[in-house]
Amino acid sequence: MTTASQSLPGERLRVAVVGGGCAGLSSALHLAPLVEKGLLASPIDIYTHDNPSMSHQRDIGVGVWSTALDPFRFEQDRPSHQLAYESLIQAGTWVTNVGYRTPDGSWLMKSHLPSNHSEVDQRNMPALLFLREKDLWNSLSTAVHWEQQRGMIQIHAQQKVTQLWEQSTRPFSTHLMIENQKNKDLSLPTERDYHVIIAADGTHSLLRQQYGGHDVERRVRLTGTGALPMPLDIPAEGQHASAADWNEMQRQTGIGLQDRHYTVYRGNAPLTREEMGLDDTSFQTWGTGNSMRFATVPMVYPVGNRKEERQVWFITCDDPEIAQETNPIKRRDMLLEKFHGWHDPIRRIVEATDPNEILADRAIAHRYATSPVLNFNHVVEKMRGIRPPNSGSGPFIIFVGDAFMTIDPILAQGFTVGMEGAYIMKKAIEKACVKCERDPTLNYDPYLLEKVLKERDESRMKRLVCLLRATELVQFLGQPSGTLGQFQTKILRPVVHMIPNLIKSPIFDRVLKYSLGITPFRTVADVHGNDEDDTSKIRKI
Ligand SMILES: Cc1cc2nc3c(=O)[nH]c(=O)nc-3n(C[C@H](O)[C@H](O)[C@H](O)COP(=O)(O)OP(=O)(O)OC[C@H]3O[C@@H](n4cnc5c(N)ncnc54)[C@H](O)[C@@H]3O)c2cc1C
Repeated sequence: MTTASQSLPGERLRVAVVGGGCAGLSSALHLAPLVEKGLLASPIDIYTHDNPSMSHQRDIGVGVWSTALDPFRFEQDRPSHQLAYESLIQAGTWVTNVGYRTPDGSWLMKSHLPSNHSEVDQRNMPALLFLREKDLWNSLSTAVHWEQQRGMIQIHAQQKVTQLWEQSTRPFSTHLMIENQKNKDLSLPTERDYHVIIAADGTHSLLRQQYGGHDVERRVRLTGTGALPMPLDIPAEGQHASAADWNEMQRQTGIGLQDRHYTVYRGNAPLTREEMGLDDTSFQTWGTGNSMRFATVPMVYPVGNRKEERQVWFITCDDPEIAQETNPIKRRDMLLEKFHGWHDPIRRIVEATDPNEILADRAIAHRYATSPVLNFNHVVEKMRGIRPPNSGSGPFIIFVGDAFMTIDPILAQGFTVGMEGAYIMKKAIEKACVKCERDPTLNYDPYLLEKVLKERDESRMKRLVCLLRATELVQFLGQPSGTLGQFQTKILRPVVHMIPNLIKSPIFDRVLKYSLGITPFRTVADVHGNDEDDTSKIRKI
C-alpha cells in the first residue's frame, strides 16, 4: 500500500463535520494534520446550527479526563494541538484529593488522583481537569481558528443540516442538505459532496434519528443498560404488527432516549476553600432514596492577571415538585429544604450561589450506542424502498460525542468520551488514506475504510461498556432508592466504614480506571487505539 500524497493525482477523501460542540471541534482538529499531509482534501468543513460566539459559553465547571487531552498533548509537531492543550491546562485545575461521604459528614473513603503527568505515567492512573465549560470550548475553538487561517478547516455557522442528499450519482459521496433560513420547509444541498460525514450534532442528532439504528447485520447493540426501563417516546415491545414494523420499532429503540429518573442541579459558588475553612478535598455525599447526591469540586481559573476560585457543586434528586418549580429562588429553597440536615458546608455552598445561575437538567441517556453507517445506500433503500442512483455504498457516517451515545451524566464523562472518540475516528480514517487497489483513481480505499471503521466501533464499544457498567455501579452505591437504600444505609455503608482506607483506596482507583476503559487487559494506548509506532513515539515524549 502506498500512502497518498498531495502531489499524486486522484480523488482524496472529503470530510464534513456536523456540529460545533466539543466533539465536532475535536474531530476537525484531529483531522487537520491529515489535510496538511495531503491525505484529505482541503478543507474539513464544519457545519454548525448555532452561532459560535453565543453558544457553548456557560460558566459551569465540568471535568475532563486526561485520556481525552493526551492526544493533543502528544501531537507535539502541531501548533494548534499544543495551543488547545496549553490553554485547557491554564484554564483549569487538576482535581487531586477526592472522597465519598454520608449525609452525617463521615468519610466512606478517600483517594488521591494524579496532579501532574509524571504521576499519571508512574501510577498508570488518569488525571481529572476541572474547568469552566466555556473555557473548554474556547480553547478548542482558538485552535480551530488557527487551522482555519491556514485553510485546513472551514466553519459554516448557523447552518442546520437536516439530512443527507439521497439522490447522489457518485458511488461513495453525497451532499449535506442545509435548512433554508428564509423557508424552513426547504433544504438545499451543499456545494461540495463528502465521502465521510462526522455526525457530532449532539443528543438530538438528526443524522442519528434518520440513519442510525439501521445496522442490519448486528441489529441493535446492547451496551450494558439492558436492565433499565423502556426508553421514552417509543412504542412498548410487542405492539408491532409485521416484520417490517418490528424492524422500525427496533430501530426506534436503538436511537431512542430514556429518562434516568433524576434531575441535576448545578452551580458555581463564589466561595474560597479558605473562607469555608476546608482543605482542597473534593467530595461526593451519597444519600438514601430519591436519587439524592451532592458533590463539590474546587475550581481555580485565570481572569486577566488574577485567579478566581469557585466551588462547583451539583445536586441530584428525583423530586417532581422541585423539578417543576420555575421560580429560581423558591427552587433553591426547596433544594435546601430537601437536603436539610446534610453535613456542612453543603448548605453554605448552595446558599452562596445566585439562584438565577443554578442550572437544572433532567438526566437523560440513549439506551444504545450508534454504530457507523457503512452502507448508506442500503439504509436509504430500506427506508424509502429505492436506492440512490449509483453503484457504490454511498458516504460513511461516523457518530461522535453525544450523537454516538448520550451517557447518564452520573460519572460526567460525556466530553471525555466525545474527545476520545474524535481521536480514534481520525486514526481509522488515516489508515484508509492509501491508493485504492480496486480503483486507482481514488487516493483512499473505501473497502479498507469500512473495515477499520468496524474495528474502531468494536474498540469504542469495549470502552463504553466499561463506563456503562461503572455507571450502574455508582447509581447503585450513590443514588440508591427503596429497599436498596435501606440495605445501603443499614448494612453496606457501616461495613465500608470499618474497612481501612488503605484497602478501599486501591479498589476505588481500579473502579475509576475501569470506568475509563482501562482494565488489566486494556491500557490507555488501547483506549486511544494506538499501535506500536504511536506508543513508541509517545514514550519518547
Ligand atoms: C447535567 C450534566 C452534567 C454534565 N457534566 C459533564 C462533565 O462534568 N464532564 C463531561 O465530560 N461531560 C458532562 N456532561 C456531558 C456533556 O455535557 C456532553 O457529553 C457534551 O456536551 C457533548 O458534546 P457534543 O459535542 O457531543 O454535543 P453538543 O455539545 O450538544 O454539541 C452539538 C453541536 O451540534 C450542533 N447541531 C445540532 N444539531 C445540528 C444540525 N442539525 N445541524 C448542524 N449543527 C447541529 C449544535 O448547534 C452544537 O454545536 C454533562 C451532561 C449533563 C446533562
